[in-house]
This record gives sequence, structure tokens and C-alpha cells, in this order.
Amino acid sequence: MIDIIFLGTGGSMPTEGRNLPAIAIRYLGWIFLFDCGEDVQRQFERAGLGLNKNMAIFITHGHSDHLIGLPGLLLRFSLLGRLKPLAIYGPKELIEYVKISQSTINLGTTFETVVYGLTESGLVFQESPITIRSFEVDHRGFALGYEILFQNPTGEFFPEKAEKLGIPKGPLWSNLAKGDSVTLPDGTIIHPEEVTSQRPQPLKIVYSGDTRPCQALREKSLDADVLISEAMYTTEHADLAQERGHSTAEDIAKMASEVGVKLLVLTHYSPRYYDGTAVLNEGKKYFQNTIIARDLLTISMTKDGTCSVKYPATTSAKTDQV
Ligand SMILES: [Zn+2]
Ligand SMILES: [Zn+2]
Repeated sequence: MIDIIFLGTGGSMPTEGRNLPAIAIRYLGWIFLFDCGEDVQRQFERAGLGLNKNMAIFITHGHSDHLIGLPGLLLRFSLLGRLKPLAIYGPKELIEYVKISQSTINLGTTFETVVYGLTESGLVFQESPITIRSFEVDHRGFALGYEILFQNPTGEFFPEKAEKLGIPKGPLWSNLAKGDSVTLPDGTIIHPEEVTSQRPQPLKIVYSGDTRPCQALREKSLDADVLISEAMYTTEHADLAQERGHSTAEDIAKMASEVGVKLLVLTHYSPRYYDGTAVLNEGKKYFQNTIIARDLLTISMTKDGTCSVKYPATTSAKTDQV
């Protein structure tokens, strides 16, 4: 099961009900955190994401609403005694930002922090079965989106086929199910495809970061299981979206319907839309499978790509208003 947990869904400034951008993806003991808006550490606690997990952080761009929560999160990890190393990826200015944060408030004493400065689109993280790539988007200055792929190494394991081939039950079965070839006691080599169904397409989650509608986002979103996109404005403020390097709900929903996205999640919408109902309604007009992100919304995806959506009980338009 892959969990996508929205820790912050605000646009530009926090409101009573919405923190600034931060999205956690939890899978196989890993936490991948995309953007690090203000007060992400308290949202981390509320979501029960734990302290000492394998973790990597991916920042989309250098605007403060996307990274001002990072020093606080590092401080929290340090105070609570995190031990596992932490990798942080993002625009190259991030290296200096983390260095200064650590030296001025004496952070990072309990664990190793490594910051990787990204200067172009490409492969960022790979650890089977997860691959994360960045792609350059069209914002104000250098800005990235991220594509997250989950590729199961094999299809479904068929025990009856394994039995027929005389493979003894036990570790050899689990190695084949994991995608490794095995050698039988008589020297015969068995490959996983002999006892499994065809390898399925990878599951794909795409996060836009901040961007005007652009070709790179369109290409990466092709057949995405989940597209998480900013929708800072509705069409009523299309001029502001263009001027400030953002998208409207209409822009993104039209694109999602054209490129075969299965579920569109609109986030990072301006405080002027309160709980986002206007943004959601505009999105749904052009793409029915659109939902609105609210803080602590969790989307759980099974290995066949089926998503279940759970909003926190406390979320309401009332608590979200500024
Ligand atoms: Zn921005
Ligand atoms: Zn932003």
C-alpha cells in the first residue's frame, strides 16, 4: 500500500486550516517528503510519520513557502535523536540554505544530512522498486516537479507453476516472487518470468510543484495514476496565474483529461478560495476524477492502482477560513 499524506495544502501563506506545501509519500518503510512548508514538523507529528524512518526530502524550488519548514524539521529530528542519515534534494541554492540553518541554530548533530543540488531534469533517486525523477517546470526562476514510479519487479507469483517445475517451497519461492533468478539443487536456473505473470506497468505519481501549464508537466503526467498539481487560482484570476507563474484549476483539469490521468488532486490553492470549493468545482467541470487536497487528507493506493481517499474529520470550510 502506498500512502500519500497531505501535510500542507496552502497557497503562499498559511491559514487557520491549511499549512504550507508539504506532501509525504509512505511506502515500504520509507517516507518521501515533497516540499517543506512552514510548521511541517507539527503536521509530521499529527500524521504519525515517526522519527527514525528511511527518509528523503525533495524540494521543488527556492520560494520560501516551500522550504521554510525545513530548518524546524531538522531541528526536531535532532532534538529527538534521529540517527538515520537524511538526503535532501532540490535546487542548488538549498546546499547553502541548509548549511546556514545548521550553523546558525546548531542543527543536525545526531544524524548525517546530505544535500544534493539539482540543476536540471533527470534521475534523482533510485532504490528498487522506487524511482524518482525531477523535471523542470515553468514558474519564476528554476523550479522542478517530480515523477515518482513504483515498479514491482515481477507480476503475480503462481505457486502451481513453481510446484510443477519442482522448485522446493521456501526461500527459493520468495526470491522468485521478489524478481530474482534462483538455482535449484540440480543446477537448473529458474527465472522469475517462468513462475509469475507479466510485469505490470509501474504505478506513477506526479507532483507539479509551482508552475504555469507546461509541456514537461503534460508529458510526465501521461497515464499518471495520481497527479498532484498546484491550482493557485480559478479562471477568474487567469491573468494572475500567468503573471505569477501558476496554473488555474481549468488549465490542469483540461490537461489531466487529455493525457489519461486517473486521479487529479488539486492543492496549493490561494487563501482567497477558503476550503477550495470553487477550485474543486472548476476542476470537476473539465475532469470528473478531480478532488481537492486538504491538510491531512490521505490517499491510499493498492498495487493495482486503486485509490481510496480519506479526509480528516476536522476539516471543514469553517476551520479553513481566514
Ligand atoms: Zn513558487
Ligand atoms: Zn508556491
